[in-house]
Amino acid sequence: MKTYHSRITITAILFWLCTSVQGQNVSDGFTAEPIPDAVWQKMQGKSYVDNPHIGRSDLRYLRVLHWDYDRQTHQGEIVCNRLIADKLLSIFRELYKAHYPIQRIRLADEYDADDERQMSDNNTSCFCYRVVSGTQKLSYHARGLAIDINTLYNPYIRHAKDGSRIVEPANGKPYADRSKQFRYKINKGDLCYRLFIKHGFIWGGSWRTVKDYQHFEYHPKQ
Ligand SMILES: [Zn+2]
Repeated sequence: MKTYHSRITITAILFWLCTSVQGQNVSDGFTAEPIPDAVWQKMQGKSYVDNPHIGRSDLRYLRVLHWDYDRQTHQGEIVCNRLIADKLLSIFRELYKAHYPIQRIRLADEYDADDERQMSDNNTSCFCYRVVSGTQKLSYHARGLAIDINTLYNPYIRHAKDGSRIVEPANGKPYADRSKQFRYKINKGDLCYRLFIKHGFIWGGSWRTVKDYQHFEYHPKQ
């Protein structure tokens, strides 16, 4: 009887150790912290410029794990508004657990904050300070409240005044036809879409005048 009980106890302890180590590994890959000095330095004059709207203390630096079609775990870095840090950690944790493929999650600074360059490289990124062209209005990326996912395969599409179609990035044109099937495609109703919607984001693929299939943005309550 005693042996039987101790076997159960040992099994229970082993089970607890295994599950807690596993849990530890997963949560260790998903962290949020204030912007470290080295990252802040790298952002200057690239994704960050001096401005009256958003400062270092409004932002958070996230490390997340992600899967790709190579079936490997990759490490990604994101700078976002502190208001959505926990939401993004939770979303990326779910995407990783489900092996949802994401090719690259690098800081915009690695592309000198050039949006066309990072989109054409299929990079996923969030914060980049910029004013909407010709206005003083900040884009949601400028406040770290918007994120673009698998950007090459989920392009931004708008129509110019002459009726011509503009696709960004330019090499994303083959993926502008959303009736086709291809890898990394975000659909209404897929896991990526469902997770962002669940956390209160709006999807650019649902917009009527422009379509921004890579884009999810969050509007904080005033
Ligand atoms: Zn965007």
